[in-house]
Amino acid sequence: MNFILDILFPKKCVGCGKLGTFFCKICISGILQKNLICPKCKRLAIGGKTHPICRRKYGLDGLWSLGIYQGSFQEAIKQLKYGKVKGLAVTLADITIEYWAKFQPFVLDQIKKSRGVGWVVIPVPLFWWRANKRGFNQASLIGQILSNRLGLDYCDALKRTRHTKPQVKLKGKERCQNIRGAFAVLKAYTQLSQKGCVNPKQYVLLIDDVWTTGSTLRECCYVLKKAGAKKVWVITLAR
Ligand SMILES: [Zn+2]
Ligand SMILES: [Zn+2]
Repeated sequence: MNFILDILFPKKCVGCGKLGTFFCKICISGILQKNLICPKCKRLAIGGKTHPICRRKYGLDGLWSLGIYQGSFQEAIKQLKYGKVKGLAVTLADITIEYWAKFQPFVLDQIKKSRGVGWVVIPVPLFWWRANKRGFNQASLIGQILSNRLGLDYCDALKRTRHTKPQVKLKGKERCQNIRGAFAVLKAYTQLSQKGCVNPKQYVLLIDDVWTTGSTLRECCYVLKKAGAKKVWVITLAR
């Protein structure tokens, strides 16, 4: 069956068009890794961990991104977003884990040490009407593959509660105002994170495809921490 599908829809690199793969080795090696930054002040930070001085009660604890949003990598993420090549999600998730283990795996080491106990993978949600138009949510697809590979629980814990304008059209402060109060935590997470639980899922890997200004991810973190999360790390493909 796969063989027939391969003939009908040959795998093609989304970056350069090379046959036989969704994202070829050359394009993968072109992913630009840059130094990791603190999600609060955006200055360099070891492992992407929030500087002690930048820590806030309801703020992010760290940010780890696979690479810089440019070139073939940018093209791959665009294709993923519009749902053209779903097999690509597996390739990108696998590269994420490979690079993460190789470069400053600060939070990955913590997950390994705790054997994943207490950790949960949560994607940034789309509006249902956008999810319908595109067919799926790329953050949830990446999140599901990552949770699977890392042996962690996965939870669609967040929902959007109201309409927001597309963030790309807005500037820094407007982005924060636009997104404020736009998310709510679903019962599924509140139950997971309750203290009475045997393994409360209080450590969150929050997943999105791209980190731009971070206002959406900061808002998601805020509602998760209000609902009982102790630690929230953002993992994105690009920034
Ligand atoms: Zn290529
Ligand atoms: Zn900082």
